[in-house]
Amino acid sequence: MNREAIKAWLLDLFYPNRCGCCGVFIPWDQLLCPDCAASLQPVQVCPHCGKVPCNGQEALPYSRVYAAYAYADRAKDGILSLKRGHNLNFAMHLGKVLGSQIPAGAYDCIVPVPMSRQRLRERGYNQAERIGAAMGTYCGLPVRKDCLIQRQSKIRQHELGAKERQEHAKLYEASEQRLDGLRILLCDDVLTTGSTAQRCAQLLRQMGAADVGFAAGCTSIRKCRPEHDRSYQAKEK
Ligand SMILES: [Zn+2]
Ligand SMILES: [Zn+2]
Repeated sequence: MNREAIKAWLLDLFYPNRCGCCGVFIPWDQLLCPDCAASLQPVQVCPHCGKVPCNGQEALPYSRVYAAYAYADRAKDGILSLKRGHNLNFAMHLGKVLGSQIPAGAYDCIVPVPMSRQRLRERGYNQAERIGAAMGTYCGLPVRKDCLIQRQSKIRQHELGAKERQEHAKLYEASEQRLDGLRILLCDDVLTTGSTAQRCAQLLRQMGAADVGFAAGCTSIRKCRPEHDRSYQAKEK
């Protein structure tokens, strides 16, 4: 057992481990219960826009999108448990699944979508950062938290429609760092309209990145009835 494993085992004595999706008790060395693990089905997304089916968007600032699951069912439960509680198991699971999709040697580092300091204080952690950290461990890539900044906002992104999300995305800013020639893998928990990821990827390019890929834990899947799109999008995240 390595140090991390001993820590997890000891922690389990005091805080029994729970499934990252449904919350049932599970052995200390697992991330999900067998039921959730079996019902999570990998999603095949368009590698360009990250959606199923392709949404036809062109000229995106990222060159390739990776996603683990559709944002629905158990995967949605897992994301909500990351956002609401302090169960980080699903972030570790997503990091592993995404990490297994990243071609060896394709990127130099991982940059998680940042969270404002105020939100970070409220939640205690940035879930995009936790997913990025797990992915970094899996792929042997460093995680850089010094590239992007999110200015404070009173509005929660999940309360916004597509138009407002574009405005909200302007709260993301570049730091003083230069990323000349680096191939960056941006990461976030959920890809919804793409306005956050596009803004962040544009900033990374302006900072000199030679290539930007984007890894999303989950991607929202368009429902077949377009009149529901807006309410559907507004409920996410
Ligand atoms: Zn479960
Ligand atoms: Zn596409």
